[in-house]
Amino acid sequence: MIIGHKAQQKKLRLLFEKRQIPHAMLFSGPGNVGKRTIALSFLKMINCEEKRVSCSGCRSCYEIDEKIHPDILEVYPENKEIHVKQIEKAIEKTSYKGIKARHKGVVIDQAHLMNTQAQNALLKTLEEPSKETVIILVSEYPYVLLPTILSRVFRIKFLLVPSREIENGIKDVSIAKMSFGRPGKAIEYLQTPEKKKNAEKEEKELRAMLKKEISFRFSLIKKVTEEEREEEFLNCWLKVMQEEMLEKLRKKKETGALRLALKEVEEAIFLYSKTNTNTRLLLEKIAIKI
Ligand SMILES: [Zn+2]
Repeated sequence: MIIGHKAQQKKLRLLFEKRQIPHAMLFSGPGNVGKRTIALSFLKMINCEEKRVSCSGCRSCYEIDEKIHPDILEVYPENKEIHVKQIEKAIEKTSYKGIKARHKGVVIDQAHLMNTQAQNALLKTLEEPSKETVIILVSEYPYVLLPTILSRVFRIKFLLVPSREIENGIKDVSIAKMSFGRPGKAIEYLQTPEKKKNAEKEEKELRAMLKKEISFRFSLIKKVTEEEREEEFLNCWLKVMQEEMLEKLRKKKETGALRLALKEVEEAIFLYSKTNTNTRLLLEKIAIKI
């Protein structure tokens, strides 16, 4: 299910219709907004046997949906890193003549987690692109990619999706609101009520913490790290702060301090995603400042 991003989808459709499909693209923007889903949907569209936007009925669309298409590859991080071997393997596979696809495709999810060797291996391919292969990088933190990679990709930016569009897509007001612009989260909550319940609990806990003194904040952070739910906690924190930011902007209030704190949380999420950093220390550092 794709919710929102009408302008981005239109741009992709135009590229296809004008036969101007770039050999390398970068889908950047916040997490859980649908970047990877749209990347796969684009590969469906350019390979659809029914020549429709993406039909899910033809063999090509079906195989991409089921992740069994021999010419469409997805690369994911292993232990918070994308290794050179993964990139080389994907490149090698796409260097053969396509078995079925008109356009072979590689989607590199969380591309910012490619290590330097992996990025250099990818760069070689970008310098000598194959006409029939489309490489799509998906990333929340594209600025950590090599400038030489960034200069060779066609970039499409994704933003948070307005709550109203999520509400129209999933027909659930409370989930639309709590997913705060992230359709991926909304679908997850819809499909797994347990996750919705946990997210609600987490948000309540976090909002309560922000009203309390430092010692209380530290003890909650200790609990969160012991239970290894730092990632959910940080993302919830980000969401709460983004909501607050929106509210302040609406009321034309001063946002300087909040903007700085928001940046700290974003950095903490990035560090957590990329390294085995001491997250308890990281969380405590933010808790002091807020
Ligand atoms: Zn199809």
